[in-house]
Amino acid sequence: MIEARGIKKKFGNLEVLKGIDFNVEKGEVLCIIGPSGSGKSTLLRCLNRLEEITEGTIKIDGEDIHDRKTDVNKLREKLGMVFQSFNLFPHLNVLNNITFAPVELKKMDKKQAEEKARYLLRKVGLEDKALVYPEKLSGGQKQRAAIARALAMEPEIMLFDEPTSALDPEMVGEVLQVMKDLARDGMTMVVVTHEMGFAREVADRVIFMDDGLIIEEAAPEQLFTAPQNPRTKDFLSKVL
Ligand code: ADP
Ligand code: MG
Repeated sequence: MIEARGIKKKFGNLEVLKGIDFNVEKGEVLCIIGPSGSGKSTLLRCLNRLEEITEGTIKIDGEDIHDRKTDVNKLREKLGMVFQSFNLFPHLNVLNNITFAPVELKKMDKKQAEEKARYLLRKVGLEDKALVYPEKLSGGQKQRAAIARALAMEPEIMLFDEPTSALDPEMVGEVLQVMKDLARDGMTMVVVTHEMGFAREVADRVIFMDDGLIIEEAAPEQLFTAPQNPRTKDFLSKVL
């Protein structure tokens, strides 16, 4: 589903991605861990062209995302994204937050979009919040609504950038549970996270990034119990 080769990204003179290669297979959950500033968010943002890469190639579903024929809007429909800050539209209730893009961008019938939204709200455990405005939701509820909103576009891949980092501890579990359900249902996912327990339990593979490079890539059991690189060991000793 994702094939990234030789990805480099500079902001001015600062090179934040220094040659990244990775693949994600259909239905696979890839977790990316690593210290702050290592380039994790930038890498995710390059996948849907929220950032433009300086060098390299990225194929999504076999299609080069920098090909002149590639429609960036279509590309972004394929890749649902969930951020640390929930980014819900404050002036729309939860239901309309979810139906907005399907109706406006995909020209989905409004009634059909609402049915789909209510189904997704049930899935994330928010069926009773459809008509509530974001300000009345807890952080965990906002993030679950944001996940439902991303799913409403029927993405092929879900990208999560530290989706639980802004949450009070008691709300982390409910969001991780929704993500676990998604993984179990076969969604292809790339998850930047500090939740090592989640990575260990749910990831098919884990990547450790440091200073713009992939330092180590392994199955979670391997990476968490027997890291090979001293930098991985050092990072894990600080966070576990
Ligand atoms: P992470 O998500 O791993 O914490 P980021 O991808 O956010 O790392 O950032 C990697 C580096 O790129 C950091 O040094 C950060 O300051 C820098 N950076 C990120 N976005 C920009 C930007 N838009 N302009 C300039 N520098 C940026
Ligand atoms: Mg980040």
